[in-house]
Amino acid sequence: MILCRTLTELSEQLTKLKHNCSNRSNGSNGSVGFVPTMGYLHEGHASLLRRSRAENDISVLSIFVNPLQFGPNEDLDRYPRDEKRDLALAEECQVDLVFLPSTEEMYPKKPLTRVLVSGLTSKLCGASRPGHFDGVGMVVGKLFHLIGPTRAYFGMKDAQQVAVIQQMVDDLNYPVEIVPCPIVREPDGLALSSRNVYLSAEERAEAVVLSQTLQAAAQWIQEDGMTAEALLERVRQQISNAHHADIDYAELYTYPSLEEVPAAAPILLQSDKLILALAVKFGSTRLIDNRLLYPNEVINHA
Ligand code: AMP
Repeated sequence: MILCRTLTELSEQLTKLKHNCSNRSNGSNGSVGFVPTMGYLHEGHASLLRRSRAENDISVLSIFVNPLQFGPNEDLDRYPRDEKRDLALAEECQVDLVFLPSTEEMYPKKPLTRVLVSGLTSKLCGASRPGHFDGVGMVVGKLFHLIGPTRAYFGMKDAQQVAVIQQMVDDLNYPVEIVPCPIVREPDGLALSSRNVYLSAEERAEAVVLSQTLQAAAQWIQEDGMTAEALLERVRQQISNAHHADIDYAELYTYPSLEEVPAAAPILLQSDKLILALAVKFGSTRLIDNRLLYPNEVINHA
């Protein structure tokens, strides 16, 4: 596995890897799978890396805690890091190249360009974390230019991020296929996250309320006449039963367009795919989770 810390090394090593592919007689065309991460890798990241490995000739991982996507009062300084463990997991997932740039390497001078995907970023995490998606767009856009992936793998844990990146790729004609991947969970349902290590034992036990509520909501939308308003009321009520839970948002939108769902109309009359998205703080740790809901399928299977 090749390790690159500078843009020059990255460019040289990628050229070599692609050249080696084109010299093989097995029909490989040098397709590049790419998984961008902030490190402190877990099985959620590994699921993306395994898919990248399975579907491409070359598999590339980036590990970079991107300061641009953190707000001034967020956890940039204490974001967990463990390079040695990350590299061991990357090796296990048969990554060909890991790109581990420093902040100076990625941003040698203060960027004045902004990558702003409007509309999609004005709600959910975009509303709670102003500027967050501008930072994500900037770093993902730069990495796409530097790596030139055929396919890039993103987890649906960050479903809004998937929608934003897909829009950016469509708007700017990046020649890359965005591959959304399912959320990987702990046995009790908690979505894996690098931030789960911040949780106290008590908070960890309570955090399961997120996935439990999402699962319950998939049943609740099947009730006759259930409206978005009533569903969200029930969702908030159930989450609030957890002592340490402090709801940032619990919202229902169409997905991936993130348009409002009429509050008082029966959900089953919605034809679109919907997303029920949650952000909840447990102590100082903010967790997100979501579930796609398919009202159409409920009706068709009734
Ligand atoms: P991060 O390191 O948190 O920036 O995440 C890097 C990528 O891994 C993003 O595309 C995330 O959506 C994805 N990811 C994080 N947690 C999970 C999970 N539990 N299941 C699937 N993908 C995940």
